[in-house]
Amino acid sequence: MLLEKAITYGIVLLACLAVIVIYLRKLKKASRVVESKIEKAKQEGLFEPVSLHPVIDVNTCIKSGACVAACPEQDILGIVNGKATLINASHCVGHGACFHSCPVEAISLVIGTEKRGVDLPHINENFETNIPGIFIAGELGGMGLIKNSVEQGQAAVEHIIKAGIRNDPSVLDLVIVGAGPAGISASLTAKKHKLKFVTLEQDTLGGTVFTFPRSKIVMTAPMDLPLYGKVKLFNTSKSELLDLWNTVLSRNDIEIREHMKVENIRLENGHFKVTTLTGEEFKTKYVLLAIGRRGSPRKLNIPGETLEKVAYRLLEPENINGKNVVVVGGGDSAIEAALSLSEQNRVVISYRQENFSRLKPKNRENLQAAVEKGLVDIKYKTNLVKIEPDQTVLSHEEGGSHFTLKNDLVYIFAGGELPTGFLEKAGIQISKRFGYTMKKHH
Ligand SMILES: Cc1cc2nc3c(=O)[nH]c(=O)nc-3n(C[C@H](O)[C@H](O)[C@H](O)COP(=O)(O)OP(=O)(O)OC[C@H]3O[C@@H](n4cnc5c(N)ncnc54)[C@H](O)[C@@H]3O)c2cc1C
Repeated sequence: MLLEKAITYGIVLLACLAVIVIYLRKLKKASRVVESKIEKAKQEGLFEPVSLHPVIDVNTCIKSGACVAACPEQDILGIVNGKATLINASHCVGHGACFHSCPVEAISLVIGTEKRGVDLPHINENFETNIPGIFIAGELGGMGLIKNSVEQGQAAVEHIIKAGIRNDPSVLDLVIVGAGPAGISASLTAKKHKLKFVTLEQDTLGGTVFTFPRSKIVMTAPMDLPLYGKVKLFNTSKSELLDLWNTVLSRNDIEIREHMKVENIRLENGHFKVTTLTGEEFKTKYVLLAIGRRGSPRKLNIPGETLEKVAYRLLEPENINGKNVVVVGGGDSAIEAALSLSEQNRVVISYRQENFSRLKPKNRENLQAAVEKGLVDIKYKTNLVKIEPDQTVLSHEEGGSHFTLKNDLVYIFAGGELPTGFLEKAGIQISKRFGYTMKKHH
């Protein structure tokens, strides 16, 4: 009897041990997978966060995995040896979904790292900068997300109204710069309060949201949109959001002046003079900068660059077929664009250096394969000098001789100008933040 019992206990114990061993092995295997992803992220330069990112307090983390499950961007977080860790941190877009989902509040949202500082402008609690009359709303101030930007755009305009509108007929009350979520919400609030204002956008209405891939799930939380009411969206799409904004803006007769890049803001005789790249000038009492943090694509400043066939980003490569395309640049974005167009088009890359020195290994490999298959032609040490409706003119770096290419589309990836220079020119103070905590549970 006793022996039988002992045997039963022994079997149960062994079974338990087997379950534990299998479980631990599984965990170890999962950890190894995450570790190899981290290694790859380091090689590809994606491990170091660029801007806002989660920081995990490993002493508090209880390995619930809730943060990993909550993040829709995939592989930004993983679990190694039972604790949450960062993987492709530079892909973090700062929703804070991980921050909200952690049951033990082990995550903070931090901007910049000890090694890599992030420039943040100084703003007070009313969203005003050190230059009285210039306000900032949205991601430029540090905290991203559609909902935050919408709320800040509205709040900033309400503070501007409190600061006093003079109803001076010779100047505008407000110039809003940028038409992303913050600028759109600011425009609706300005209209609601009958301000005399214009909204200037260097590109297209929608801001960063306009550049999302069509299939991306856009995560947001219910928010109040001025002149509309409660928007009850959680997981939505780019087109649903853009349709909503377009409808509310047109219903309220608000025109966003697209393709108007603001170059300069100068204080002159008690008002601001806002100047665009195209030479227009606006006199205004207040300025609201809702320009985000992504900056402006660098232009080549060559004849023909304003033609419609020239673009600085590639939105839907699958819809481009049978074209003669020139891609300018030698960074990852240029190569990724060239590769995604190469299956269905004739692609030439023009690059001013004699080789590509800073590509992700995968892009380098794929490019080599595409060149070998004759899908991509690379013109090293060349510069674009002129763009014409059906051709482009290039020059050789050495000797300067010119040649032409038959051409339908030009994509320029010559890097970007961060908003820092533009802000400094306007006199706005900026500090580099090294690991500055934006959001922490209390
Ligand atoms: C890949 C990706 C995925 C994301 N996913 C989500 C998500 O699912 N949910 C979420 O809430 N957030 C997400 N975000 C973050 C979100 O897009 C941003 O936080 C939000 O768009 C910021 O709004 P904004 O109005 O401050 O700036 P932006 O949307 O960046 O808009 C700024 C606008 O200003 C314009 N501009 C800049 N300079 C000038 C100038 N000199 N003159 C005139 N116009 C100018 C720009 O062209 C742009 O249109 C994501 C971001 C990225 C990159």
